[in-house]
Amino acid sequence: MAEAQIIDGKKIAGDVRAEVAKEVARLIAEHGVKPGLAVVLVGEDPASKVYVKNKAQQTVEVGMKSWEYKLPAETSEADVLALVNKLNNDAACHGILVQLPLPKHINSEKVLNSIHPDKDVDGFHPVNVGRLWVGERALVPCTPTGSIILAKSVKPNLSGMDAVVIGRSNIVGKPVAALLLRENCTVTIAHSRTKNIEDIVKCADLVIAAVGIPEMVKGSWIRPGAIVIDVGINRVPSENGKTKLVGDVAYDECAKVAGAITPVPGGVGPMTIACLLRNAAQAAAMQIGAKSVFA
Ligand code: NAD
Repeated sequence: MAEAQIIDGKKIAGDVRAEVAKEVARLIAEHGVKPGLAVVLVGEDPASKVYVKNKAQQTVEVGMKSWEYKLPAETSEADVLALVNKLNNDAACHGILVQLPLPKHINSEKVLNSIHPDKDVDGFHPVNVGRLWVGERALVPCTPTGSIILAKSVKPNLSGMDAVVIGRSNIVGKPVAALLLRENCTVTIAHSRTKNIEDIVKCADLVIAAVGIPEMVKGSWIRPGAIVIDVGINRVPSENGKTKLVGDVAYDECAKVAGAITPVPGGVGPMTIACLLRNAAQAAAMQIGAKSVFA
């Protein structure tokens, strides 16, 4: 069996950003509106600081307005809620992202639910979750959207495929399952209590792994020719005494059996920010009553 096609997430994320830049230019030219995205960071979490910096940089690169609100770790919940409320009422700000995790004294659910659903570019607000499941126009979580774009880069029409999602989180597993259903796949969601997971995965034409267990999915689980999308990002010790990133899929063995596979890093990872920018452009179009190329 030939080695699988490697799905190049870095390149495809670049293509998505180029589409967003084009849409931003159109919204400016046709409606005089420059989409704007605000990112709120509370505290000093080093990984979050890097994410926020990358988000802001890429926001500007696609031609949008970017605001970064960096608040000290001791900021009160009331002050974070007041900032979100101010942004909700600011017509120039079309998307609001509150970077997680928030410090422990702040109720994340309360803060996320205070974001206006039409500005909820992470797609975590219950209104957007509901809109996604009933098939209304929604802002959809970014990593799931990116995973579907990668699968469709191999097979543009996923209709009728048997898809298995491993993981049932609100951030990845459940929304990706909803999106697969919207693509007319037959969807199975496997999780920590699922029996005979290997046998279930073996039946899949499309596997999306979002578990957080390094290299859990083995080559022997993969149906020959299947598309394998690996959402997992796990840091493990490497041979040189440092650490390296691996996915939830044992890449080398699965690549020998799969038809196409995403690497880690360079697969789903780069798609997340690209899809965030896509959501911000979609949110701006929705708020001004314009058509969006993205929904
Ligand atoms: P989570 O911890 O919230 O959820 C993990 C899910 O895996 C749970 O639903 C659980 O039921 C399931 N699970 C746990 N053990 C299992 C087992 N033995 N068998 C089957 N299922 C099992 O994690 P998450 O937020 O959904 O993230 C999953 C992975 O994706 C993590 O590695 C995370 O770092 C990564 N992630 C990547 C991106 C990205 O941008 N690429 C974004 C979000 C998450």
